Amino acid sequence: AEEALINSEKLSVAGQMAAGIAHEIRNPLASLKGFSQLLKTKFDKHHDYLDIMLTELDRINGIVQEFMALAKPQAHEFYGNHDVAKIIKSVMTLLETQAVMNNVQINLSIISDSTVTRCDENQIKQVFINLLKNAIDAMPLGGEVDIDLALAPQRNDSLAITITDHGVGIPKEQLEKLGGPFYTTKSSGTGLGLMICNRIIAAHHGSISFTSELGTGTSVTVVLPVISKLN
Ligand code: ADP
Repeated sequence: AEEALINSEKLSVAGQMAAGIAHEIRNPLASLKGFSQLLKTKFDKHHDYLDIMLTELDRINGIVQEFMALAKPQAHEFYGNHDVAKIIKSVMTLLETQAVMNNVQINLSIISDSTVTRCDENQIKQVFINLLKNAIDAMPLGGEVDIDLALAPQRNDSLAITITDHGVGIPKEQLEKLGGPFYTTKSSGTGLGLMICNRIIAAHHGSISFTSELGTGTSVTVVLPVISKLN
């Protein structure tokens, strides 16, 4: 097993600028989509081309939206006391259809009396959506994903949330690329999911790390301070 610690240094100034540009791209993109849809209603003959255009426009839109998520404020006022177990359960509900469609069963085990942390609920939700989606994507034949929530080993000021899949795994030369922008092995991936996780967890003074074995599966551990230093 190999371990790669994703650190916040990977988030470059270029990434921040790109998030700004993404914002500017949104309006012209919306008008392109609108007119393509209009054309589709007018020209029967070119439906195929227009469908491709609309699919590709949606793809650009997906990338832009993920960048916008990167640009979102991480201001202090968004932080509150939230139950991480509750957040994870809501994410499980959100992804239930996707899991069932892929024959994936998600199990949650909680071995901590308190699972409350000071955090931005929506941002932490986004982290677990991204990580769980990756776990599901990693198991094309289905299987089980285990989520373990416990106090971080040897410390009682942090929660450790480990998501273990039994999927394709990550080659060790690719482990260190995780969290860099646009690194993806998926045909419809953006390679921004882990970058967003990385940024959110860094803002919460937490950490995120991976262990993986090719053909066996991957474990992602997110450590979150129970009381954020931002408080
Ligand atoms: P995306 O999902 O759009 O590709 P991510 O940043 O979420 O973007 O992931 C980047 C890449 O990391 C994925 O394309 C995949 O190759 C790899 N990866 C992430 N999580 C896992 C996992 N649980 N198992 C195997 N590979 C993974």
